[in-house]
Amino acid sequence: QSHPTGASITIKDVSFRYGDGPCAIDGLTLEIGAGEHIALLGRTGCGKSTLLQLLTRAWDPQQGTIQLNGQPLANWSEADLRARTCVVTQRVHLFSASLRDNLLLAAPGSHDGHLCDALRQVGLEKLLDNDQGLNAWLGEGGRQLSGGELRRLGLARAILHGGDLMLLDEPTEGLDAETEQQILALLRQVAGGKTLIMVTHRLRGLAYFDRICVMDNGQVIEQGNHQEL
Ligand code: ATP
Ligand code: MG
Repeated sequence: QSHPTGASITIKDVSFRYGDGPCAIDGLTLEIGAGEHIALLGRTGCGKSTLLQLLTRAWDPQQGTIQLNGQPLANWSEADLRARTCVVTQRVHLFSASLRDNLLLAAPGSHDGHLCDALRQVGLEKLLDNDQGLNAWLGEGGRQLSGGELRRLGLARAILHGGDLMLLDEPTEGLDAETEQQILALLRQVAGGKTLIMVTHRLRGLAYFDRICVMDNGQVIEQGNHQEL
């Protein structure tokens, strides 16, 4: 998709608890316009990752509704949801598989050239620096990746994913400042007209976002743009 239009999201009075624990999301209401770029902030444990997981239907809320483009999430098929929504979780998962397959699961059918471009864009070209190239085996029985490399792999998957909703959970955590700047610039480019929700602890680079939402105790307690907050 060269001109994604972005997905709109309506979260209405949503509450969610894990098992019989306390509310991780507590009556949260949030409206996100198509193509909006949102930074999600808040102290550890306030529910940021949980909120992203609700958007991918990893869990369903016990209360309230979440709509994607005006349709309840439950109405979307798993395949549709997966095709539209690109997720980079806080802990990027490495599959015991070839480098190619580790990328292809984000973007089935991509050509090798695309995969290599994405690796270069996130600074992982050295993974191609051997005889096996994209066939190199990763994970168990193969090459392990460092924390920073895993993040980059997650970002490469995000770049390759054709969906119009990007959910990124602290994608630059553990990367040095210079790399972070590069990656954020790249994300801006890739996210273009897509809807983007990015969890971050960093205050740098917030000016770029259309809106900053601050969470606490499972709710959005403050929002506005960089100047307003
Ligand atoms: P961080 O900034 O540390 O990543 P967060 O804002 O992403 O924090 P969440 O991971 O969403 O916070 O967690 C919200 C609350 O839900 C926390 O109290 C956490 O302990 C709890 N929680 C998260 N995942 C689970 C789980 N799988 N089972 C039970 N409780 C969980
Ligand atoms: Mg989290």
